[in-house]
Amino acid sequence: MSDAGDQDGTVAERKMRFLFALRSRGVTDARVLTAMEAVDRGLFVRGLFAERAYEDMPLPIACGQTISQPSVVGLMTQALEVGPRDTVLEVGTGSGYQAAILAQLARRVYTVDRHRRLVREAEEIFAALHIRNIVAITADGSRGLPDQAPFDRILVTAAAEDPPGPLLAQLKIGGIMVLPVGQSDAVQSLIRVRRTETGYEYDELRPVRFVPLVEGVSYD
Ligand code: SAH
Repeated sequence: MSDAGDQDGTVAERKMRFLFALRSRGVTDARVLTAMEAVDRGLFVRGLFAERAYEDMPLPIACGQTISQPSVVGLMTQALEVGPRDTVLEVGTGSGYQAAILAQLARRVYTVDRHRRLVREAEEIFAALHIRNIVAITADGSRGLPDQAPFDRILVTAAAEDPPGPLLAQLKIGGIMVLPVGQSDAVQSLIRVRRTETGYEYDELRPVRFVPLVEGVSYD
């Protein structure tokens, strides 16, 4: 199927529809929208589902995982309030799409996944896109990345029952963490945690559904 003139319209029309869907679901931050316009989601979805990459839905990727719904990626990125000097930790590289968006907004992004294959495939896409401020690592992200801590921002894209202690500890004072919490087969809540001088403040953003945060690493 050619890009121009297929049943879904031209590339420009498809992009406009994609951005319109994001805005209508509450992604209104101009920097986030610009970042999402710059990163082609189609590159991060392989195989059968590639042609649905511009629809606002989660899609299957390798290792039984999913690339999140674009509007959820946008809302999480917006809630994270990333600044250009920030160092960000993302737990759950998956396809690499969310990391590529964070990389447009932050100084440096560390992204970790427990599946080595996903990390390798994401690294190939970052290289092809000449994105140079992402460090992708195979690791159990529930422990954070002690050697690189503390972080200005932490984004977790897999659900734990509670915010993992090591991640709370690796957040800078003044830092923000956004993560889904709740049991994997139930509806989870997206929450935002701010670390203050004296402790942590929590607010609940919306119901979401993510794959579970699983301990340990898989070298398949
Ligand atoms: N952010 C991704 C979507 C992530 S899906 C994207 O943009 O495509 C959730 C990911 O979290 C999966 O790839 C899964 O392997 C990973 N994951 C689950 N538990 C983990 C853990 N303890 N440490 C690191 N990654 C984990």
